[in-house]
Amino acid sequence: MANSDGGEGRALVVGLGISGIATALRLLQVGWTPVIVERAPARRTGGYFVALFGGGRPPAERLGILERLDNRLPRGASYEIDRAGNRKVGLGYGDLPGSPWMMLRGDIEEAAFSALPSGVDIRHSTVPTRIEQDATGVDVTLANTVDGTTATERFDLVIGADGLRSTVRSLVFGPHERYLHRLNYMAVAYQLPRPLSDLHPDDAAVLLEPKRSMWIFPFAGSDPTVLLNYHTRDVDAEFTQPPVERVRAAFGPEPAGRSLGEVLDALETADDLLFDSVEQVHLDTWHRGRVVLVGDSAWCVTLYAGMGVSTAMSGADLLGTMLQRHPQDVPHALAEWERALRPALEVFQRNGIQQRTFFVPATTSELAVRKLMTAGMRVPVVSSLLQQLRTRDKAGRLKDHDIALA
Ligand SMILES: Cc1cc2nc3c(=O)[nH]c(=O)nc-3n(C[C@H](O)[C@H](O)[C@H](O)COP(=O)(O)OP(=O)(O)OC[C@H]3O[C@@H](n4cnc5c(N)ncnc54)[C@H](O)[C@@H]3O)c2cc1C
Repeated sequence: MANSDGGEGRALVVGLGISGIATALRLLQVGWTPVIVERAPARRTGGYFVALFGGGRPPAERLGILERLDNRLPRGASYEIDRAGNRKVGLGYGDLPGSPWMMLRGDIEEAAFSALPSGVDIRHSTVPTRIEQDATGVDVTLANTVDGTTATERFDLVIGADGLRSTVRSLVFGPHERYLHRLNYMAVAYQLPRPLSDLHPDDAAVLLEPKRSMWIFPFAGSDPTVLLNYHTRDVDAEFTQPPVERVRAAFGPEPAGRSLGEVLDALETADDLLFDSVEQVHLDTWHRGRVVLVGDSAWCVTLYAGMGVSTAMSGADLLGTMLQRHPQDVPHALAEWERALRPALEVFQRNGIQQRTFFVPATTSELAVRKLMTAGMRVPVVSSLLQQLRTRDKAGRLKDHDIALA
């Protein structure tokens, strides 16, 4: 394998999430040798719902991931429910333009991982602690978090695919506070041990109140997952108490009622719980020399845009294309990659802010608009008008567009 500026080379990929695996797959396709390091001692499984939009499916296909995936959205109804047990037909995730495929985060992670050939160098419990570069390569000190040993290795390219609170970003670009933008909402996601007693296993439900919401996502072949959202004035304080206490306080003091009550009870014993603040990442540039950030570490659009997975795969796919197109000049390939990708990501970031009202209305007027939309969807003329308006919206169109084809 040629080294830097002879074409293909050796790349360090930090993070074995969907961005990291997709990037490694693409690097292999264009003749590079990836080395993947992951902080966790083992791979993550299961997890929360994710929607894969039309624009994410072509890169997933080119990476060899799509053939291992199914749309797991069952053919049930979507209801808007309240604490008293009332229900009306409502707007579900599957009603969004772009006909998203629904699945668990772990489905995509597993599909991507199984597409990786055996023999790829993957090191768990390993983190970068120092990154220094010159014109021809990058020296990275890697620490094993189990035995405490460290070693420094040289790479032709370093890819930070290490998520919202990226270590690569803080080592090369600066501290988190400079790049993280809090939306002042918390997201809590977990799998239920069984369907809710008031709901058919194939049905979706949403409970909307000002500044808090509960979503139930049904899945073909497994128990539903839940997503709770709530507003907070003090994100740091949310992490000072057990999640169960914070969530019960946020959804109180009113009696929970049957469905929310079952969801809150299930939180007490939930495995694989996601409890995190909703934040976007904004950087003026995603690359510096031979170091590049991809996925949430670079542009986290938030769950409200629903494009984190799709853009992780588009970003990985396009990165390989640009490295192949500019084999003699890695920094130039990275600049071209960002030039092609950034406009769409800026649209998705704005969409992430706007779509928050769909997931969790903040005020009684936002809630009223959301309920009006739901009511309108039940009237055929209004419904087709709303659909037309939404498909004309730039973000709606881009969600179906293959942005990796530049
Ligand atoms: C509740 C929820 C719902 C979502 N819904 C959707 C959706 O509907 N559609 C959609 O497209 N996206 C959705 N997303 C976003 C999507 O899950 C992410 O954007 C996507 O998984 C890409 O993540 P990533 O690989 O960039 O980062 P991550 O998944 O965070 O992976 C980063 C990896 O890096 C590792 N790591 C971290 N630090 C280090 C270190 N120092 N050294 C080594 N390894 C490290 C981590 O352990 C992890 O394995 C949702 C997110 C949430 C939270």
